[in-house]
Amino acid sequence: MSQRQKVVIVGAGIVGAATARVLARSGADVVVVDRGPSAGGTSSGGEGNILVSDKGPGAELRLTQRSLAAWARVRAELRDELPAGFPDLEFEAKGGLVAATTEAGATALLEFAATQRAAGVIAEVLDGDRAHELEPDLTRALTAAVHYPQDAQVQPVIATEALLAAARRHGARIIQGVEVLGPVLSGPAVTGVRTAGGTLPADAVVIAAGPWSGEVAARFGVPLPVRPRRGTVLVTSRMRQRVFHKVYDADYVGAVGSGAADLMVSSVVESTAAGTVLIGSSRERRGFDDRIEARVLAALAAKAMLLFPFLADVPVIRAYGGFRPFVPDHLPVIGADPRRPGLWHATGHEGAGIGLSLATADLLHDAMLGVAVPGFPGSSGSSGSAGGSAGPVVAGGPGGPVDRDGSGGPVDRDGPGGPVGAGGPAGLDGAMGLGGAAGLGSPARLGGAMGLAGPGGAGDDLAAEFRPDRPSLMPYLEGSAA
Ligand SMILES: Cc1cc2nc3c(=O)[nH]c(=O)nc-3n(C[C@H](O)[C@H](O)[C@H](O)COP(=O)(O)OP(=O)(O)OC[C@H]3O[C@@H](n4cnc5c(N)ncnc54)[C@H](O)[C@@H]3O)c2cc1C
Repeated sequence: MSQRQKVVIVGAGIVGAATARVLARSGADVVVVDRGPSAGGTSSGGEGNILVSDKGPGAELRLTQRSLAAWARVRAELRDELPAGFPDLEFEAKGGLVAATTEAGATALLEFAATQRAAGVIAEVLDGDRAHELEPDLTRALTAAVHYPQDAQVQPVIATEALLAAARRHGARIIQGVEVLGPVLSGPAVTGVRTAGGTLPADAVVIAAGPWSGEVAARFGVPLPVRPRRGTVLVTSRMRQRVFHKVYDADYVGAVGSGAADLMVSSVVESTAAGTVLIGSSRERRGFDDRIEARVLAALAAKAMLLFPFLADVPVIRAYGGFRPFVPDHLPVIGADPRRPGLWHATGHEGAGIGLSLATADLLHDAMLGVAVPGFPGSSGSSGSAGGSAGPVVAGGPGGPVDRDGSGGPVDRDGPGGPVGAGGPAGLDGAMGLGGAAGLGSPARLGGAMGLAGPGGAGDDLAAEFRPDRPSLMPYLEGSAA
């Protein structure tokens, strides 16, 4: 191949950012296009929990377990990829503590934890004394508590900007403030995108448009059942640290797993590096209605006070929210769209997209390029490929190690904030031409574009769980389900 494969990613949220980084790192010519600012969508509207504790055995838990490993690997890689002084990701493996306050809740929690342990999750049942050693201010009305030491958190806006900055470092371009309007087609196949600023040629297009992915997919002529599910978070004033883990009530797991449109509230209480406490979160399907309503705030506060009575006297400084990208079967959609050659999806992560972004990007990389991401467990390489091996993967970053010490203090993670020091918007100059980006090794091939791999990737069994044409989504893709 004489030319690097061109990939256009729609959406500069954390999923688009993570995908851009791994593809650019492997030598693809990547352009990310967002109609707004980077990290301006859902990735700035929620929390940054990376939770195994709320997931039962199954594909999403396995993806989370891979993501946790990926966060460790990528954080180390970013030390070489980010400029000195880049803000810290505020990654903290602080662990989760799930508390029940009713007998029914206790039974459900303990049964759930047993199934998780069988799937490799560390889930330690605590007695009341031990629970209060870990969380001295936790309610005394406990009926059961389980500690999940693997749960972690990251600052989502900084993480998104870090992944975008690393993608740039590997030659990707980020175009902000330009809307993607639809595809350029050659027969049924996508050969580019039409944007408000002109057309961009592409061998492959990835829709990573978060809760707007359904709308963007429709512009590409394919139905995709991704819808917004509203969530709101309350933020307290800064205080001395009185919450040490991610503490949530046992109802939370039920709310996550439910697809109900009505308001559901379950408490997740956690402190931030900045000293505030975040009280999340609600779940409600009401389209893109972004009003912050007193009834939701009251329900959030009431649940949080059941867990931590001291919160009753703590000032609340603000609330914010966003739209989770909801899919009816609660699994993200990752892989090639069999209805539209050249079109790929990386979306539908609902309330777990920050945590799952890295493993999602690795799966997609594996499927698109037919080669494994180095260090990605279970990555399948080119097995199942029909078209021979792809170009070599460039494993190392282009530069030497960058000293990140002294990179500035913690950045407040409780709010949307603006872009964090990742460099300014790339703008449109030169971006539309797409040529001449700094090369990083051998050209990468694209499974979909090259006929290398079928939908769902190159033989990875986990990839098959998320493919767009999985049985549980088929009625929606065919338009026979609402
Ligand atoms: C209250 C709340 C709490 C949450 N808590 C957590 C948590 O603790 N842990 C966790 O892992 N996840 C959490 N989430 C979910 C997480 O935030 C999302 O799953 C994740 O941010 C989705 O990222 P994304 O990149 O897919 O989408 P987004 O961040 O929404 O990015 C999509 C981008 O696509 C762009 N776009 C849309 N249409 C177009 C177009 N036509 N042309 C160009 N660009 C377009 C948008 O402008 C946007 O920037 C929470 C969400 C909410 C709302």
